[in-house]
Amino acid sequence: MTEAVATTIDVTIAEADWASAVRTVREFAPAGRVLLICHVSPDGDALGSMLGFALGLRRLGVRDLQATFPGPFEIPEPFTGLPGLDLLVPEADAYPNPDLVLVFDVAAESRLGGLVDRLAAARATVVLDHHASNTRFGDVQLVDATAAATAVVAEQLLDRLDVPLDLHIAECLYVALATDTGSFRFDMTTPRVHEMAARLIATGLRPGEISRRIFDSRPFGAMKLFADVLGRAELEPTAAAGHGLVWTYATLDDLARHEQRPYVLDALIDPVRCVAEVDVSVVVKEVAAGEWAVSLRSKGAVDVSAVAIALGGGGHRLAAGFTGYGAPGDVMVSVREQLAAHVVA
Ligand code: AMP
Ligand code: MN
Ligand code: MN
Repeated sequence: MTEAVATTIDVTIAEADWASAVRTVREFAPAGRVLLICHVSPDGDALGSMLGFALGLRRLGVRDLQATFPGPFEIPEPFTGLPGLDLLVPEADAYPNPDLVLVFDVAAESRLGGLVDRLAAARATVVLDHHASNTRFGDVQLVDATAAATAVVAEQLLDRLDVPLDLHIAECLYVALATDTGSFRFDMTTPRVHEMAARLIATGLRPGEISRRIFDSRPFGAMKLFADVLGRAELEPTAAAGHGLVWTYATLDDLARHEQRPYVLDALIDPVRCVAEVDVSVVVKEVAAGEWAVSLRSKGAVDVSAVAIALGGGGHRLAAGFTGYGAPGDVMVSVREQLAAHVVA
């Protein structure tokens, strides 16, 4: 299940690529069928950048417009209040032959699941992304590995299309930006990020209310589930060439016992990555029998993007993921091996 190792990419987007993207949207969007796609198990940046851009296209007068993502049509509870949700359709209902496909926050075609065929079916594809591991698929590639979120790229393209921000577009982009910067705490929180946040907040949105909804609210059962899963965490101070590792796993049975949906586990990496004694944190989450979504985080000593790429996934230097197979212990054998091979400091 490994895929091509990412090629080296330019860190910012060339003027010629912006121009092609604008030309492509102007050529195909107004009269054509436009399909927007984000990655499987969508997070705040995937949904927020996609829906914010979709609302922008609607403002441009685009009428045949759908947004979708592969896999079960389930929107994580924190995102069920996002503007533009009426544009979302399940994978099965997505235009089979769109004129234009726009792809959001997708590092590799494998993250498009069954929707990958729409890339070839479309007359043109534009990819908006910010993963250093982006594999460079699609006709026009707007990939900025220095951007804190795909929403940063989306806002710039909307600006170049002369779409002004309104409250609804801004709320989508704000959720995306706040999600991928960990509420403006991570390293990628540059002046550019705060300037963008200022433009978004100036539309009148309520940051406190949005944060409560997307970060500070979870069912009681999810808290009890977290207690079980955190309770079995293991500390390995000698892993990652002595930089240390903490890891845990969650099974489908854990979810069933506490009557929780899989997306609630997306937040579980946060308490785990706070462990002071180690550099690396890992959460191994069962998504199907013997199949695990693995979240990796580093504080800087290990390039977890390289670890994830070596194991068939992708991501960023300090936050990455891949799909593992077997038992959690088997998955961790390969993780330990790759961690030791990708120490950078
Ligand atoms: P997560 O741990 O799911 O929050 O993901 C952390 C980062 O790694 C995000 O930028 C994801 O887009 C990326 N990522 C996670 N899983 C994969 C995968 N299977 N393939 C490529 N990138 C991934
Ligand atoms: Mn994402
Ligand atoms: Mn992202």
